Amino acid sequence: MMTIDIKRLQKEIDDLSLISEATPPVVTRVLYSEADMKGRGFVKNLFREAGLTVREDAVGNTFARWEGKDKTAAPIATGSHIDAIPNAGKYDGVVGVLGALEAVRALKASGFQPLRSIDIIIFTAEEPTRFGIGCLGSRLLAGTMSGEKVANLKDREGRTLDSLRQQAHFPTSNPLDVRLPKNAYAAFIELHIEQGPILEERNVDIGIVEKIAAPSSLKMKLTGVGGHAGAVLMPDRHDAGLAGAEIALAVERAAKTSGSPDTVGTTGVFRIEPGAVNSVPCLANLEIDLRDTNVKTRDAALIQIETAAKEICQRRGVALEVERVNVDAPAICDQKLVELVEAVCQQQKVSCMRMISRAYHDSLFMAQLAPTTMVFIPCHKGYSHRPDEFSSQTQIEKGVVVLGLALEKLSAP
Ligand SMILES: [Zn+2]
Repeated sequence: MMTIDIKRLQKEIDDLSLISEATPPVVTRVLYSEADMKGRGFVKNLFREAGLTVREDAVGNTFARWEGKDKTAAPIATGSHIDAIPNAGKYDGVVGVLGALEAVRALKASGFQPLRSIDIIIFTAEEPTRFGIGCLGSRLLAGTMSGEKVANLKDREGRTLDSLRQQAHFPTSNPLDVRLPKNAYAAFIELHIEQGPILEERNVDIGIVEKIAAPSSLKMKLTGVGGHAGAVLMPDRHDAGLAGAEIALAVERAAKTSGSPDTVGTTGVFRIEPGAVNSVPCLANLEIDLRDTNVKTRDAALIQIETAAKEICQRRGVALEVERVNVDAPAICDQKLVELVEAVCQQQKVSCMRMISRAYHDSLFMAQLAPTTMVFIPCHKGYSHRPDEFSSQTQIEKGVVVLGLALEKLSAP
């Protein structure tokens, strides 16, 4: 029997939400910012108070371990992220970290002693805000990034990953050394809010993730010719902004006509320079997100977008640079783990359904290291990445109980 102290967990979620770069209830915690570092400190303290041993790697992935009796057996892991995009809410990621802690505390209080150690992981920078790449921490744990790519990571101010992580006093070893061996964990389960409306609409308590959609993203830099908005006549223009606008429409077209209902394409960043009303845009920076559950249609759409961008820029006399920031495979979750979570739900008499995660999570990369699944809980209207993101205490409690009992089964003697 597991007893969750939901009031304590809610208070910790609320307290962490106050550690923000923005005015509450808005949560903003960008990687290595003061708020991020304070937030990490807050959670690490809670880990230590619960008797867990805390380790950090060179990029700030944080591992809080409940030592099992058998130190030679591969441990079990759970966890999520606590960074938050600008103007976010307090549940995304956080439920999977503080909820995991509450699950571990409940297991400890019940007298359970694990055979396999249990790690709660805070993944560094699940959100792509600073470096334009999502799941930085878990990506590095899975070893899917080249040294060159890591060395070239820069934020908008031109600061590198190396300078920022050293400034934050993380261990000085090479970021690539954080890579974990395959089968480092016997299983990984991430608790997360759904960030979509399905569970709430169907009045289902728990979603068990079978597959995570394949994400990809592109950066495009368009260099045209600037000039006076009155003096440069239309036939002489090489407007980088207009080339960007056409590309954004090509992204929409590629996603809509891919043949897969799951292809989604978004041009979420569109910055033009100099950004003055009387000046022809000489530069446009676009960031494009494209995902699909089907890697074939996703890749075809990606090529269609790149081909269209080339044609548009050529026609308009605008120079084009394209960077494929990431082109990831989908994650297929572990069938046995999915069944185990399903059995826990049935035993607890909480309703559950299998589902696809269309948002990506650190689980996408943990799936390369360990049998993986995710436990989704409903959130109000599917709202996420906004301040009114909300899951009720009852919904969170059910998720934490399911996670806790799954961890118990997986780590049992
Ligand atoms: Zn998240």
